[in-house]
Amino acid sequence: MNRMRSVSTGVGPRSTPARRGRRTATGPLWIFDLDNTLHDARDRILPHIDRSMTRYIEEHLGVAREHAEGLRRGYWKRYGATLLGLVRHHAVDPGHFLARTHDLAELEGAVVAHGALAQVLRRLPGRKVVFTNGPAAYARWVLDRLGVLVHLDALYAIEHVALKPKPAASAFRAVLAAERSWCGPRIMVEDTLANLHTARRLGLRTVWISTTAHTPSWVDCRITAITDLMRVWPALVVPRSGSSVPPTSSLRHVRSLR
Ligand SMILES: [Mg+2]
Repeated sequence: MNRMRSVSTGVGPRSTPARRGRRTATGPLWIFDLDNTLHDARDRILPHIDRSMTRYIEEHLGVAREHAEGLRRGYWKRYGATLLGLVRHHAVDPGHFLARTHDLAELEGAVVAHGALAQVLRRLPGRKVVFTNGPAAYARWVLDRLGVLVHLDALYAIEHVALKPKPAASAFRAVLAAERSWCGPRIMVEDTLANLHTARRLGLRTVWISTTAHTPSWVDCRITAITDLMRVWPALVVPRSGSSVPPTSSLRHVRSLR
């Protein structure tokens, strides 16, 4: 847990101990995914990282590209992250893999931001943290390019959840344990349904970023872009007595806004 706290203090100026002390235990806790939640990684960043992972597997396992591509996809489906399969079955060094497949120099200029992201994060009340399956150095780099580090309080990356990524419940529990002093509503904002499903099972309120027409009943709110939070957040943070498990009628009008 100390490792996580040391990361949380490094994400931005608002994370100094003095400020953390003043900001404990009131208001909502917002837990944001990174890729395809705070920025659009679909066209450039994620395809680039996929190609880098396939190339890494080719080179370090000495297999043909087609086989490497199959391993990358297969481990991602089986474990939720290609890295886990490579560590478990091929003794790949996690740090080396993450650094080589998230080459920040190669990604320069590839971050696609939502125009009003900084304004949204600045105006939302409460504590705001990022929880990503990517490596910490990559996440910090993206958040810096987005210009939002100053609006965030902590960052949790795959190194900080024992390399067991979302949707593993253990990953969520590690983050929630690090944020245990925060007693307000806890809200996960994500583009990946499987991750939201775990979040919901653990009692978090869930916001799904998607343009899909159908929304599962256990998702509290679906929005098409992070900027839509400015429209729906008041209903998401309404206190509920007796249970940490949503939804209640307080969220019905949020759904009607879809
Ligand atoms: Mg995502």
